Amino acid sequence: MTDAAHMALWESLDLDIPAHDALLAVLGKFYGDIYLSQQGRLKGAEYLDFVLSEVHGLRIKEIQDTKATGKKVVGTFCVFVPEELTLAADAIQVGLCAGAKAGTEKAETLVPRNTCDLIKSFVGFKLARLCPYTESCDLIVGETTCDGKKKAYEAFGEHVPMHVMEVPQCKGPCDRDLFRAELTRYKDALEKLTGNTITAASLAAATKVVNAKRQALQRLARLRSADPAPISGRDALLVNQISFYDDPVRFTAKINELCDEMEARIKAGQGVAPSGTPRLLLAGCPMAVPNWKLPYLIESSGAVIVGEESCIGERNTRDFTDETPTDLDGMLDALTDRYMKIDCACFTPNTERLDHIAALAKELKADGVIHYGLLFCQPYAHEALKVGKAMAAAGLPYLAIETDYGMVDAGQLKTRVEAFVETLS
Ligand code: SF4
Ligand code: SF4
Repeated sequence: MTDAAHMALWESLDLDIPAHDALLAVLGKFYGDIYLSQQGRLKGAEYLDFVLSEVHGLRIKEIQDTKATGKKVVGTFCVFVPEELTLAADAIQVGLCAGAKAGTEKAETLVPRNTCDLIKSFVGFKLARLCPYTESCDLIVGETTCDGKKKAYEAFGEHVPMHVMEVPQCKGPCDRDLFRAELTRYKDALEKLTGNTITAASLAAATKVVNAKRQALQRLARLRSADPAPISGRDALLVNQISFYDDPVRFTAKINELCDEMEARIKAGQGVAPSGTPRLLLAGCPMAVPNWKLPYLIESSGAVIVGEESCIGERNTRDFTDETPTDLDGMLDALTDRYMKIDCACFTPNTERLDHIAALAKELKADGVIHYGLLFCQPYAHEALKVGKAMAAAGLPYLAIETDYGMVDAGQLKTRVEAFVETLS
């Protein structure tokens, strides 16, 4: 797209053009330093570079063109919002980035200062008119996964059209019933928004699309168990981040191509880092675009990240939705069962997450685990302590890091990560 076309698009969405220009300039520099500087990248990473370079351009144009044909756009912040239902209503689902410090001052007029950066970021992007995805949404779906989010949505809902889903805190039979009812309520909201009825046929087709995407991401995740690691943690994170906003069918095809290339590399004994490089599993809070600080610090400290136990990673892709039911009720039951397996830190108790982290570290032949928690995130801060104990029991070296989206602590974090990596080599 030409510069003039980009500008016209952003103006039509009423973005704050000077502030948006400044944001893109920072993002471009950040991307160059963190991504383009990598050695030995896969050829398929060109797709990632292209999508990122046009993240506020071509994909937005595509979304706007589709909107002109009458399709609706639904924005989400959490993997508890089933893309299967959104697609079955013939709507587009986009994960709204909340990975940068932007509009913080404005955000703090709506949410308390001691709120995690993820929440401040999505509020700030909206109030500062910086995000073309948020401005393209016909509906934004929130969920009650933590107190910070559920209170923020009350205030945020005064600025955007919102639907809030209740996500239970436990996993007993009555909690499952509650979530099943919430899926029906979301289905009704989508039907009202789009004017389309969700049928067994449309839900079955959508489930296939979403499962195929998960299959490609799982394939990529499995290939990372090879030594030398065939892809950097940064690129793998980007793949997971892009999975939230690119067209799902195109994305799946591209990731399968990337996996073919990874398989060829593994066969040839090639990788992004020499064999024997310390391998780390990153666990914890999700990392939305452009939250690349910690992965960069880790991979520039002599280690390679081989997996992400995160919602932008394994936690989101581990489970498929059962495709065997043929009636709508059975399919909604299958969706309920699939989504209730997510081991978000908002659940109590949540021991399955501890088991999953240890199993994943073993499967990926990780030498250690780094837990990433966002400052002011209560659920993951509590779990960081539990994960530490579980890793000690499993004999896995462990480091817990709490940080925000700012760069002030980058030097201090690097020192801690380097010291940790040294103990592994
Ligand atoms: S960590 Fe929990 S609240 Fe956050 S995206 Fe994942 S499931 Fe949703
Ligand atoms: S990072 Fe923690 S506090 Fe922030 S929205 Fe997610 S669960 Fe809530």
